Amino acid sequence: MDPKTILPELRAAIETERLPLVETSRTIWSNPEVAFTEFKASKLLVELLKRYGFTVEYPYAGMETAFRAEYTHGNGGATFALAAEYDALPGIGHACGHNLIGTASVAAAYAAKTYMDKHGVDGRIVVLGTPGEEGGGGKVLMLRNADCLKGVDAVMMSHGGADRTRGDIGSTGIRRYDVIFHGKASHAAGSPEKGINALDAQILLFNAIGLYRQQMNRDALIHGVIIEGGEAANVIPDRTLSRVYIRSKQEKLIDEVYARFAKMVEGAALMTGCTSEIEQYSIPYKSRKPNRVLNRIFEAAARAMGTMNVIPAVGEARGSSDFGDFSHAAPGIHACFAIAPPGTSFPGHSEAKKAHANTDFAYDRMLDTGAIMAYCALEVLTDAELRAEIRRDFEGKTPGQNA
Ligand SMILES: [Zn+2]
Repeated sequence: MDPKTILPELRAAIETERLPLVETSRTIWSNPEVAFTEFKASKLLVELLKRYGFTVEYPYAGMETAFRAEYTHGNGGATFALAAEYDALPGIGHACGHNLIGTASVAAAYAAKTYMDKHGVDGRIVVLGTPGEEGGGGKVLMLRNADCLKGVDAVMMSHGGADRTRGDIGSTGIRRYDVIFHGKASHAAGSPEKGINALDAQILLFNAIGLYRQQMNRDALIHGVIIEGGEAANVIPDRTLSRVYIRSKQEKLIDEVYARFAKMVEGAALMTGCTSEIEQYSIPYKSRKPNRVLNRIFEAAARAMGTMNVIPAVGEARGSSDFGDFSHAAPGIHACFAIAPPGTSFPGHSEAKKAHANTDFAYDRMLDTGAIMAYCALEVLTDAELRAEIRRDFEGKTPGQNA
């Protein structure tokens, strides 16, 4: 199928739903809900999908704010899934623009469904409402509790970026830890010799991590903060807590860095006379494994749209996402779309990004992205040869593929 001929029809279908789609996204933006409390957002998206004729399971996978919506035309056949995120960041609100992600996926589902009805395309469209991306691992839990990608031929989502659109360049896997040191409180001036300083242990740990970085494999990252460092300057802290993240695209490097990190924690405890504990914080995410065939289709459609400022899917990805686990369970991509005019730049998770996630420009690109993903869905549903190619890439059978 030529995207140039089909995209206008898909985009026109979405345009008939512009008002409810944009209104939904704007309402989600104005009412930020953090991980697993996205009651309003999930309800709004579910209401749209029901009106579009999708069968909805909500709540889903043991999470009140997760859902699964399905539409089947004919006798089924292939299945294409769209992931919809809608959680906000604590404190700052929709500074990651997830209000645009969920709505783009619902727009895509609507356009694909409308096309399937009109042209008699058999297959199944699934929309997975995936809560708690920001640290909660909603997708990991959906896989664990409901095997939500079983039978899915391809899964896709697109995340608002800055001024450019591109396919998936991957992401790092992440494991998060809390380090607690236990010491002994004492008056810092009156009887310091009776104390055991749990803050000293954190300081030594952070210095050890800092020095280790020079020798650490460059494909790994380690960074952290001290969350509890004591309460009063005249009290030797008896308990401190820091949170440390370790990331890499390679699981074995995360293992390697973790082994050193655990020794540093032990060493810091030994040097100060403290005792230590390492606890896993939150759910680990796998690194993302972008499907190159899906990247190719997405990119071709995005270029054909003409509005998206498309760049090739190359570059270094350091962040992490729970879509990583999705991409190991089924062939998938987590693409990125422009939400601001060319030449605009701003960091993620910032006030500027939050403002850009609620502009007419961003909403137009969100609707365009819906048409692009709908096109990808139809390609996958109608082309068995393409599905086989996607599967081969997923299984690592394409020559020259990076692991
Ligand atoms: Zn995000």
